[in-house]
Amino acid sequence: MDIRKIVLIQPNRDGIIFGKTTGVPYTLMRLASLVPDDIEVEIWDETIHRPLEEKIAELGANDIVGITAKTLAIETAEHFTHLAHKAGVKHVAVGGAHATLMPEHVEQWADILFTGEAYFTWPTFIQDVLNDTIKPHYDDTEWANLAGIARLTDRVIDQVDEERHYWTPLLEITRGCPRNCSFCTAIRVSGRRMRFRPVEEIIEEIQRRNINRFFLTDDNFGLAFRLNPDYIVKLFKALAKLPLRSWTTQSEMMVTDYPELLDLAREAHLDKFFIGFESVNPKNRHELGGKSKGLTSQYKKAIDTIHKHGIGVVGLFVYGFDEDTPKTMWDTWKFAKSAGLDSMSQTVLTPYPGTPFRDQLIQKNRLIPDIPWRLYDTAHITYYPKLMSVETFIHEYDKICRTVYHPFRILQRGTRALARASKHSIRRLPHRVFSSFSTDYGYKRTFDWRHAT
Ligand code: SF4
Repeated sequence: MDIRKIVLIQPNRDGIIFGKTTGVPYTLMRLASLVPDDIEVEIWDETIHRPLEEKIAELGANDIVGITAKTLAIETAEHFTHLAHKAGVKHVAVGGAHATLMPEHVEQWADILFTGEAYFTWPTFIQDVLNDTIKPHYDDTEWANLAGIARLTDRVIDQVDEERHYWTPLLEITRGCPRNCSFCTAIRVSGRRMRFRPVEEIIEEIQRRNINRFFLTDDNFGLAFRLNPDYIVKLFKALAKLPLRSWTTQSEMMVTDYPELLDLAREAHLDKFFIGFESVNPKNRHELGGKSKGLTSQYKKAIDTIHKHGIGVVGLFVYGFDEDTPKTMWDTWKFAKSAGLDSMSQTVLTPYPGTPFRDQLIQKNRLIPDIPWRLYDTAHITYYPKLMSVETFIHEYDKICRTVYHPFRILQRGTRALARASKHSIRRLPHRVFSSFSTDYGYKRTFDWRHAT
């Protein structure tokens, strides 16, 4: 079959904030870069390319549609698939985290199912379309060596125009996490072995995209401090030479075991660590893959150490483990206030497909029936907790979110973060004003979705 155009779609519910949105379609940018130059390729983001329904209606039999979706967006992916079929599109390929974790669901309505990372199978599929040898399922079983893989092309960078449309560009440095926290999908979506992109390729990509700030997509970047310190030194020294404004990343608190790397991180323009403390309840330690133990004295020490190095800390906490009660939530808030966190994320434990946590709930018949996938957004309760009723959990979660994300609290945390940052670098202060308030504001928006859905 001749291909007129390949359209890659990213469902996105984030909406526009001051003219821009979040959630750069980074995965699709890389897949679009694997499309041969002589085939037209476009990336459509639901938030930006509006109304997407009308654009899909203009597609036809010689167009290929690819959709990537997380669990919470999979119903939208299915909706777009049906619209594409109505328009006459014959080949709608669906991949991403949910398709990888729950292929038996996606194969019911997608023409072509993609599981795994698709770096190798996506180019094969395009050739198969041209040769009329398409298969219903492309399974990428290899964890790709990240060197030289899916280098972003200039046509894709120009088309997406991140500066104009997105608040924070995304970047990948490492992928994979050997921890196996009972609720996390990383091991199944990104692999157990941590992989590293060559430093030269990262620097080249930053320069060619002309970005001066970014959020890492890495599952647990901080673990690389222990696994590959030489790589981290090389990376930080290279980043330090770039005119970056700031960058942020998810991590675990063991980065504080490496003070010399924290110094280099600051010089490399690292602004904030998002640290997965997860729980202040020591009884939950077995669920946390060994990275946290629910010991607040340890957490406090880690926060102080990171602050001393001029780097901010966003605390990530999850509620709803089997040992949790409403008291756990309020203990968390008490701790967060006393620990001087820059921002605080508090999410509801969510049983994503493919996780040990979900398997355990299924065995015990504890999943709430008929919950739509769009509520698998870490802000809704989708299962029966062990030590609280669903109603109590909802009530207390709403109450604590209203407390933590009250505008006064956001202002208080942001001002404190700003004051702390000013001690380390007056020069960077103007850049810190936005970053000191935006993280909490983003979490507040996620919480607000509870009442919009
Ligand atoms: S440490 Fe983080 S990324 Fe790794 S398995 Fe646990 S939650 Fe997932």
